[in-house]
Amino acid sequence: MAPTFLDRDLRIRPIDVFIDPGKPVDRAIITHGHADHARSGHGAVLATPDTIAIMQTRYGADCAGQFQPLPFGERIDIDGVGVSLHPAGHILGSAQVRLEYRGETVVVTGDYKRLSDRTAQPFELVPCDLLVTEATFGLPVFQHPDPAREIARLLRSVESWPERAHVIGCYALGKAQRVISLLREGGYANPIFLHGAMIRLCALYEERGIPLGPLLPSIEASKAELAGKIVIAPPSAVKDRWSRRLPDPVLSVASGWMSVKQRARQSGVELPLVISDHCDWNELLTSIEDTGCETVWVTHGREDALVYQCRQMGLAAEPLNIQAFEDDGGETDEE
Ligand SMILES: [Zn+2]
Ligand SMILES: [Zn+2]
Repeated sequence: MAPTFLDRDLRIRPIDVFIDPGKPVDRAIITHGHADHARSGHGAVLATPDTIAIMQTRYGADCAGQFQPLPFGERIDIDGVGVSLHPAGHILGSAQVRLEYRGETVVVTGDYKRLSDRTAQPFELVPCDLLVTEATFGLPVFQHPDPAREIARLLRSVESWPERAHVIGCYALGKAQRVISLLREGGYANPIFLHGAMIRLCALYEERGIPLGPLLPSIEASKAELAGKIVIAPPSAVKDRWSRRLPDPVLSVASGWMSVKQRARQSGVELPLVISDHCDWNELLTSIEDTGCETVWVTHGREDALVYQCRQMGLAAEPLNIQAFEDDGGETDEE
């Protein structure tokens, strides 16, 4: 049964609603707050309450004509199309979109992961006929390690260098809060220092019920006070003049891409931490299989390898080749 009501640009044809459109449209469903999925200027946005709060924090309260919050698991009917949102486990509020029309079920994953993460609602498996999956780490070479092990390496390094600051490059939305939360899980109770770009979104996570422990703005600390401490900063700040105000900093970046050793070396990262908020190869395959889908559309990443593997598994599979758009904040969502 080939589903027919979703176009390849993720437009839900019977109701003219787009999912994560790259340019402003009249009506959009937004999976989560990262800039390659959520953008400003839509007429109406349907999303989880957390995603709406994130969009309004990043882009302003009136970044869409109107907002319709849809809590996880609540189903609404839009002119005959059943729509519900289900946790994707990627960042706070991140959702998969489930659509049902004339007996056909489609799930659009957005970005997702299945590893436990205290800063995101846990991934829910949603059976479907057609699965539209991301493929950011869609190559067999990507096998993400246990994040607790990466955090333990960081904490050992902090202990070994009491005179140095550790500065960890993290995307401001999602990765920063996850790394802080993992540090707390790993037993680190000291204040964690924040680059200015991190403060607003960390505060928003706390407001929305995600505890992050004691956080301080790094700008208010003297160089001496930052010795032996952990500072969270955007990846761009780690490598520029900004980090020179830290005492002999150990440069670190937390990203799924840090498993590509060459990439870490080239960017001068002394302590690469492989912490990903996306599925790795095996997680992608398991998830596709678990949904029981017959057809897979692959988008956002390494499409060809995953399409090939899905066909080997006996599924109908196609790449979507949705044009990635230039985001406006200079921030990419490549964790
Ligand atoms: Zn994302
Ligand atoms: Zn993304």
